[in-house]
Amino acid sequence: MAKSNFTKTLLQSYIITNCERRLFFELGRNKPKLWFDPVRPIPMKPPERLIFQRKYLIEKGKEYEKEVYTCLKKLDNEQFKKDINGNLANSNLNTTSINNYYDTLTKEPKKTLTLLEYQYSIPQSFFSQIFAVKPSATILPVDYSDQRPDILLLGNDLNKFLGSDQNFEITNSGTVRKVPSNELNTRIGITIFDIKYVQDDHVGKKHFLEIFYYLKTLAVQIKDLGLQNKYYIRANLNGIFPYHTFKELNNLKSVDDLFDLELVNIISWKEADRIYLHVVEIIKGLWQNSPCPIEQIDLNFHQGCGYCQYINDCKITLGIKNGSDSRSWSSRVLPFTSKSIAEQLIEEYNLHTIGDVLDNVDAITIGSIPKPIYSELPTLKMKAEALIYDRVVFPQPGQT
Ligand code: SF4
Repeated sequence: MAKSNFTKTLLQSYIITNCERRLFFELGRNKPKLWFDPVRPIPMKPPERLIFQRKYLIEKGKEYEKEVYTCLKKLDNEQFKKDINGNLANSNLNTTSINNYYDTLTKEPKKTLTLLEYQYSIPQSFFSQIFAVKPSATILPVDYSDQRPDILLLGNDLNKFLGSDQNFEITNSGTVRKVPSNELNTRIGITIFDIKYVQDDHVGKKHFLEIFYYLKTLAVQIKDLGLQNKYYIRANLNGIFPYHTFKELNNLKSVDDLFDLELVNIISWKEADRIYLHVVEIIKGLWQNSPCPIEQIDLNFHQGCGYCQYINDCKITLGIKNGSDSRSWSSRVLPFTSKSIAEQLIEEYNLHTIGDVLDNVDAITIGSIPKPIYSELPTLKMKAEALIYDRVVFPQPGQT
């Protein structure tokens, strides 16, 4: 079976690179005929340097997860399975287990159940909302796998951490809805946290996206299991359990402490939803136009490209071929130059290549309305010169 290519990592990679071309490569990897026309071989393995970096981060992340689980397992009402070595094992969020939790929580509404490493399937209907059916594509154009958030909290006692009248849910169609107060007597809220080896102030957009992918898929799965009258997925009390010292983790004595001691970072849900919907819209657009030539999809050549497995393919698009003159390379190759500045050079000033920039950048007249490109003109010329003559170029006196 093909390795899943529609994952939270795929969504996050767009946020990290801001590159539609990369997203397109990743989406089309498993079923290229549905995406690329013409089909051409693309690298399947990330570069060594990324594999090494990822390996280190995964190891550190696992170590930290273990520390957090050790503290969480001491709390009341934790639900988890152990493997033969006593480590936390995966559990399944199935109809029987979740119905049992419902019975417990309706009898004891002050209780919150904490489910660790519970796995659930994503119904295919979730992907049907993203990938519209086409006459030329009768199968789903991507492969996906189950989801397993680190921490699921079940119970309505947690609503005390929301302002009054602030109960919002993610519906199975992906929209956000206010939960009427009468429904709170019969439906139980679910909250998701993921443990990350990351400083609290580094929690950002890519984490927002990951959490919303969990929320949106779980909402569809709850509906698919016929449990939407018993449960709802909270839109506004989810987030990341970031890095804390062992001392801080040891202060955790109850589920309430997660919030009272600010051990979790509650993500800004409106922004998270906006980011999620934006990425999904881009994916829908890419699918709509597929299959198409890879060159048709916009790229964002930037300093992070050195970690991208598709760099050699993109270099060809940008005119960097064996033995080619650097004068003919695209202006997008200018190092440390934002996508918008490169686009302005090409579209507004007709400076398509590095040679065009070197020869003509001085002719750009500074208008009375300030533009960010004006302050960059001297450095753009220096960068073009350095690339063409393959040497270090220093600023002239007074140019710094
Ligand atoms: S190398 Fe850069 S421009 Fe090309 S796909 Fe990767 S991120 Fe995008």
